[in-house]
Amino acid sequence: MCYCKEPFSDTCYEDAYTSAIDDEVRNSLMLRLPPFRYLAPREVEQAAHMLAQEGESAMLVAGGTDLYPNMKRRQFTPPVLIGLRAIPSLKRIEGAPEQGMRIGAGVTLSTLASHPGIRQYYPALATAAGSVSTPQLRNAGTIGGNLLLDTRCNYYNQTEFWRRSIGYCMKKDGDVCLVAPGSPRCWAVSSADTAPVLVSLGARVRLMSERGAREIPVRELFRDDGMAPYTRAADEILTEVILPPAAGWSSVYLKLRRRGSFDFPILGVAAALRLNADGTVAEARLTLGAVASHPVEAIEAAARLVGQHPTPELLEEVAQLAARRAKPLDNADLTINYRKQVTPVYVRRALKMVAQ
Ligand SMILES: Cc1cc2nc3c(=O)[nH]c(=O)nc-3n(C[C@H](O)[C@H](O)[C@H](O)COP(=O)(O)OP(=O)(O)OC[C@H]3O[C@@H](n4cnc5c(N)ncnc54)[C@H](O)[C@@H]3O)c2cc1C
Ligand code: SF4
Repeated sequence: MCYCKEPFSDTCYEDAYTSAIDDEVRNSLMLRLPPFRYLAPREVEQAAHMLAQEGESAMLVAGGTDLYPNMKRRQFTPPVLIGLRAIPSLKRIEGAPEQGMRIGAGVTLSTLASHPGIRQYYPALATAAGSVSTPQLRNAGTIGGNLLLDTRCNYYNQTEFWRRSIGYCMKKDGDVCLVAPGSPRCWAVSSADTAPVLVSLGARVRLMSERGAREIPVRELFRDDGMAPYTRAADEILTEVILPPAAGWSSVYLKLRRRGSFDFPILGVAAALRLNADGTVAEARLTLGAVASHPVEAIEAAARLVGQHPTPELLEEVAQLAARRAKPLDNADLTINYRKQVTPVYVRRALKMVAQ
């Protein structure tokens, strides 16, 4: 018996009304999360077991600052989420700059950006972490989630309603690339601020599953593929980021974005340099972010610095060389032409800062 609008009816008109609204329309208008089951393990081993049990349709969630908006836009609709927030071991920062440091994947970007050891000895990482989104999102967002951020594209980071209206694209629900219609692949962009930095720092990551644990260089975590941008297996949890000893290295991160307050990078330049006592360059690493589906290492350009004094002329030459590795497409903010022209400028500035 219904006691609200229709006292003598056996039908609940409220239910009938709400279920009559097309679920997709409701989602498009309200940007609601789809339904899911939430599991909250207390230990990594337990999380790995749950992930193995639930299978490939389950997803991990840390801060949720990337995944939840993507779920609201129906880019992902996992029936099960395994939350990593309640696992204390993922929130530790251990070690020292002299021996190297181990950062738990669940350490928040705010913690990283304000950590005295990271700020002093790995400044590019502190800068990159501190430049991600907004203070609120940095308080929730983690280093692990940042490294495994979904690749981005103007045609993909839109509501389901918007994507449906243009016929979807191959990254989700469609079969063509709307940026490069003749292309057999997706060119969505790697937009994580910390990714190019960790590549330039020569960091490693630890991945754990029920099958065991493995450590790989951060650069090997990425694939040049906008749809499958990570080499992480579906049952693996990223547990730690391992920084090498900081001895003698300087590092810098420069980020280009439309709004200084918060925005994804349109270009990120991560430079790391070690100088000899005579002022010549002993080792150099240069990585560009947000210019492809993975962080792009400018290996040839960086090698040009080794054994040389970093003169303004040499830095200009290296900047031009490095910028050739960037091949922006029309799927991010600002024009391709501007992004091409500004790349050597940012690389030169970053090199100048790090060589000082
Ligand atoms: C308005 C806005 C602005 C933003 N600006 C930026 C920006 O400027 N720069 C930037 O880099 N990012 C930006 N972001 C994205 C996001 O906030 C950050 O990348 C953040 O670090 C993601 O971390 P998280 O813990 O919230 O990840 P989540 O959303 O929890 O997860 C992201 C992905 O990583 C996976 N994952 C998370 N942790 C693990 C783990 N330990 N092991 C395996 N898989 C894992 C999840 O399954 C998911 O696929 C922005 C987001 C918003 C909403
Ligand atoms: S690059 Fe192409 S396939 Fe990939 S998200 Fe953009 S439009 Fe879709």
